[in-house]
Amino acid sequence: MAVEIKSAPEIDRMRRAGRIVAEILDALEDAVAPGVTTWDLDQLAERLIKEKGAKSAFKGYRGFPGVLCASINHEVVHGIPSRGRKLSEGDLIKLDFGVSVEGFYGDAARTVPVGKVSDQARRLSEATRDSLEAAIAAIRPGNRIGDIGHAVQSHVEKLGFSVVRDFVGHGIGRKLHEAPQVPNYGRPGTLESLRPGMVLAVEPMVNAGTHAVDVLDDGWTAVTVDGQLSAHWEHTILVTEAGHEVLTRARPGTTA
Ligand code: MG
Repeated sequence: MAVEIKSAPEIDRMRRAGRIVAEILDALEDAVAPGVTTWDLDQLAERLIKEKGAKSAFKGYRGFPGVLCASINHEVVHGIPSRGRKLSEGDLIKLDFGVSVEGFYGDAARTVPVGKVSDQARRLSEATRDSLEAAIAAIRPGNRIGDIGHAVQSHVEKLGFSVVRDFVGHGIGRKLHEAPQVPNYGRPGTLESLRPGMVLAVEPMVNAGTHAVDVLDDGWTAVTVDGQLSAHWEHTILVTEAGHEVLTRARPGTTA
């Protein structure tokens, strides 16, 4: 499938979608605390989507029941919000969230510590966030999709962590998932060339142990097979003439 190049009016809608995604993730990050359930976070996100006049990207997507994917500790991605999942001190929660505005999507994820977390949890989340920043730095016309994956993989593997293979980043625009696929591993100078007007959701998922994951019987929740921790960071990024523009940056002073 061909990679879509977005027009200026389309990019404007994607900027608005990306801004709303960032603002709602800011609010969710603030709400994370021991005792809060993933259901509470989903409800907050749904209320804020309505207030901002956007639409959920996830609710109803292949039957997903929430507006937020909330994955805790060894859960990698696609955790289903639940009244029965209460956050505890020391948990690492991944908040993955998307909306559409006038038919165009934004998608981002953050890993948030619940209170004080272990050194390993903190290092894993930082390595994953830093690998996303390294990937963003590699986004400019003339570079290739393989440069993005290489930036992620080389950063986290040198720190002793592993990159999930079963889930990858993606083009984004009129649909939540568009061509091309954006793996978090690969070789420099390979795969599709980056061109101005492409928009990519780059989303490293990084495990403390083996990269292998399983999907639970609920059909959604991906977990590490060895039960070790996982982290996930994601931004929606426009390729520009000069390089890139991150459409889902958080407000200054927060983590993303
Ligand atoms: Mg995504």
